[in-house]
Amino acid sequence: CETLIFKVNDGLNWFGLVTLPYIYLKKLSSSVSAQSCFLSTYGGTSHVSLDDVFTEVQLELHHSSSGVHQPLDLEDVVGSVGTVNKDADTVLVSGEAGSGKSTLLQRLHLLWAQRAALRDFVLLFPFSCRGLNLEHRELCVQELLFQHCCWPDREQEEIFQFILDHPHLILFTFDGLDELKEGFVDELRVCCPTQRAPVHVLLFNLIQGTQLKGVMKVVTSRPGAVGPGLKKHLRKEVLLKGFSPSGIDCFVRKHHSDSAVAAKVLESLQANTALLGLCHSPVLCWIVSQCHKELLSCGEGSPQTVTDVYLMILQHFFQHHSTSKGTTGAGWLQEHLRTVLHLGQLASEGITSSCCVFSGADLETCGITEKDVCMGFLVQSKDVSPGNSKRYEFLHVTMQCFFAALYIVLSGDTDCSTVPKLFELQDVTETGLSSTCLRACLPSADQQGGHLEEHTTAAEAPNLQITATFVSGLLSQRHKRSWQRCCSKAAVERKVRQVTRCLSKGMQKHFRSIPRPVPGEKKSMHAMPGFVWLIKCIYEMQESRIAKDAMSKLEVDHLKLTYCNIGPMECTALAYVLQHIKSPVGLQLDNNSVGDVGVEQLLPCVHVCNSLYLRNNNITDEGIRRLTAKVVHCDNFQKIALFNNRLTDASTLHISHLLKAKQSFLSLRLGNNNITAEGAKRLAEGLRRNHSLKFLGLWGNKIGDAGAEAIAGALENSKSLVWLSLVGNGVGNAGARALSGIVRNSLSLEELWLTQNCITRAGVEYLIQALKHNTHMKSVWLKNNDLSSEEVEEVKLIEPRLIF
Ligand code: ADP
Repeated sequence: CETLIFKVNDGLNWFGLVTLPYIYLKKLSSSVSAQSCFLSTYGGTSHVSLDDVFTEVQLELHHSSSGVHQPLDLEDVVGSVGTVNKDADTVLVSGEAGSGKSTLLQRLHLLWAQRAALRDFVLLFPFSCRGLNLEHRELCVQELLFQHCCWPDREQEEIFQFILDHPHLILFTFDGLDELKEGFVDELRVCCPTQRAPVHVLLFNLIQGTQLKGVMKVVTSRPGAVGPGLKKHLRKEVLLKGFSPSGIDCFVRKHHSDSAVAAKVLESLQANTALLGLCHSPVLCWIVSQCHKELLSCGEGSPQTVTDVYLMILQHFFQHHSTSKGTTGAGWLQEHLRTVLHLGQLASEGITSSCCVFSGADLETCGITEKDVCMGFLVQSKDVSPGNSKRYEFLHVTMQCFFAALYIVLSGDTDCSTVPKLFELQDVTETGLSSTCLRACLPSADQQGGHLEEHTTAAEAPNLQITATFVSGLLSQRHKRSWQRCCSKAAVERKVRQVTRCLSKGMQKHFRSIPRPVPGEKKSMHAMPGFVWLIKCIYEMQESRIAKDAMSKLEVDHLKLTYCNIGPMECTALAYVLQHIKSPVGLQLDNNSVGDVGVEQLLPCVHVCNSLYLRNNNITDEGIRRLTAKVVHCDNFQKIALFNNRLTDASTLHISHLLKAKQSFLSLRLGNNNITAEGAKRLAEGLRRNHSLKFLGLWGNKIGDAGAEAIAGALENSKSLVWLSLVGNGVGNAGARALSGIVRNSLSLEELWLTQNCITRAGVEYLIQALKHNTHMKSVWLKNNDLSSEEVEEVKLIEPRLIF
């Protein structure tokens, strides 16, 4: 059977039979399967099948229009959910380095090849942008598909015609758009499938849909590398947020066949929440699991920072190959210093020239031997290279950054200005300019002519940031002593001073950019992404002196870090630094991925917060339990916003306790959670005993009439409450009747929000009567209740403070 007949369902109706040479499909699917069945990070140790270790990752829609967290399944990536632009065919999956983007694509590829998912797509063509960087010829789309993915031994024209005729049955994936040397532009149009062009131009045309319109494309990238030019061609954007807490647990158990070892690793993670926070990043979770022996034997010195984790894997790989087993202290480093420097040189030259794939000649130029390769930090690239010569890449791009950092710290060859320039570059990238200055400081970069480009590309900026973070970590108090045996003490001390100065200067620059407050308003700082990066560098240095020094110059009332990709790892760093702020601030962390582990990590800094905004952060009752247990003892703490998290009635017990204990508490916002009448009753117990609360928001819960009655009963005699919202809570006339009690009696309430409930004309009557006794109340909002338009007009005339 040489021709396979597909009966295809386009989702609406059966539209007929299509044919495709079967042999090609078989070849393509076995090639996709072979490329995707093993994980490359295990290449240096053992082959581990993706089926065995793949763990669900957290996927979310970017800036979901409803503002509601919507967890997605793997197949939703290509499904219709969350589509913002129906005319576009490109889905972007964005996530930080190591968040699992390549592995996610790999999983989709494998499932497709196994016919276990994506069955609507007859053909799948996987591309890696790293691989496309190596293609210097001009190609047409047909050549791109066949030469880079799978060559049809016969009937090429028929197969390509099939693709042209049935675009909706085809899926392309492009991994690592941020690694492409050329930044996205949509000016160069190549519409004809037979027209040749540089591959990046073809890629941009495919993404825009000027070529092969209707073919679904999934592209992965780090968030910072995608500009508005590309965004307008996106069907949707999916954010990859690494492992959930249960994902970490699941991964560790999958990684260790011995369940006793898995249990011990998990136990040690629970005991070290800073490390647990790091493990939300799959690549770090992999390292921690891989290095379980080192982890379990280090006791007190258990890793705290990202640098600690990478040093652990460095030691792990080297000791695997060590001649003198059991070398203690930094002895292992001395033994392997030559290898570190050679790999480091390759890594740093690659980073300064946006190169992640190296030829045998590149390795030779840096003095890397076969033995060095065997250490396992380099793996053979899966990308088919022109000429089929062997190509190498680091196990992961972050590993390349780590080696580049080791080189900057340990090599005597680097220029004095290397460290300052590495840190200064971050400012350059934030202002969108490009620079070649770091490259000029690294030795032999100019001899590498082959892969040097004139400008800093999208790929360089995040890699330089990661490298700088590692440089900070390697020069921390706890590690710098180890290097003194390998290089000059004076040189290390000079680099430490340089990093310290750069971090302090960088912080001050951010503080200088804070606009003067409008008279009467609070002084507020909206952090730029570079601010979080600086905070992370300070944390890596583990010197509270630097954190203190930086914070002594920060004078704001409100620190805004919304949409900053803040997860548990970032929370650890933030708390480490922000705990030194001198006067209380409002800390706004809305729309991040703080989660319960992140909440726990923030605890060391909550005493400097007068308000904490954690809207849309995937926090559960457990996070609230931990948070309230701490803030109840914090004198400054007055406001909390928890809109759109995963709170249930169980949280209200803790919140109620907080209300009873804190008579200076001002504002509680719990909108869009899962609080029912039971929770409202428990909350009422706290409200009854609190005499300070001014703002209470419960919008979008399910408290119903019974809940409204409980809240109303508790607040009837409140002398502090100014604003109350029970919008969208299924409140009917019984609730309205109870609430009219507050309206009648309260001397403080100004606004009552009852929009989107089920109150009828009879219920409104209670409110009208109550308002007759209250002259200071400003408004009762009643839009979208059960009143006819005539009734609305009628009651508006009777009581103008009723707002519809
Ligand atoms: P990215 O492409 O975002 O930089 P990768 O997909 O390369 O991240 O992930 C780095 C490493 O983390 C992988 O090689 C693998 O060891 C581990 N990893 C990532 N995602 C998963 C997953 N879903 N299940 C199991 N391991 C994963």
